Amino acid sequence: MDKPEIRIDFPSSLHTFVGARRRAGSTAVQVDGTSTLGHVVESLGVPLTEVGGLTVDGAPADASHLPAHGQHVSVLAVARPQHLDGPLRFLLDVHLGTLARRLRLLGVDAAYESVDIGDAALAARSAAEQRVMLSRDRGLLHRRELWAGAYVYSHRPEEQLQDVLSRFAPPLEPWTRCTACNGVLREAAKTTVRRHLEDGTERSYDVFAQCTACEQVYWRGAHHARLSAIVAEAVERYGGPRTAPVGPLNTSIAPQRDTPATAR
Ligand SMILES: [Zn+2]
Repeated sequence: MDKPEIRIDFPSSLHTFVGARRRAGSTAVQVDGTSTLGHVVESLGVPLTEVGGLTVDGAPADASHLPAHGQHVSVLAVARPQHLDGPLRFLLDVHLGTLARRLRLLGVDAAYESVDIGDAALAARSAAEQRVMLSRDRGLLHRRELWAGAYVYSHRPEEQLQDVLSRFAPPLEPWTRCTACNGVLREAAKTTVRRHLEDGTERSYDVFAQCTACEQVYWRGAHHARLSAIVAEAVERYGGPRTAPVGPLNTSIAPQRDTPATAR
């Protein structure tokens, strides 16, 4: 007797995950009668974080469905923006440092591990802190412990930022977060931050902010124009305060750290 098989098709946005022969309409897949539909989809290379829905013979189905011989499965892409229950905060893996700094520049809560702590520890932190795991590692996104996850489709930071903003539409609060550590910034008087400054900086600037977590001091320095352009483009597309920072940075000048390491 022939082995049971189903037919399955994927939307073009998920073609990056599947083999070339599965990119042209529906194709046959052998099933074993015990593996769930979610397992079958994953075994073909697609992280379930990227699946917005499944249909079996045209009717909505769950990832726990046991596919039976002759059934036709359609895999649907995640809708954009994707709605999640709970606050929108993120956890980025070791390869996404530039994206982390850019999200923080826009005021998005973006935790980032600059050392590789391993998939298990990342997944556990995602679960414990209810953070969306952002990664280009499919193996990591397959982990069941994740609170939520999303594949980052591009290797270019500019495109990665657009990808995350268009996918989750997080509220933007530019210039309110420390790009170095993700802490919240507060306005700081020159007298209180003077010991952190070199002479030239102290003479040239009057408006400062300081991270409430790591004490990094920020001001409107040499990289301000470039970072402002990133902020302006994001706010133009996705909304948010245009110039004046909100909350503790209630000033018309947006402070920025004056070192080349920020938001590369
Ligand atoms: Zn900080």
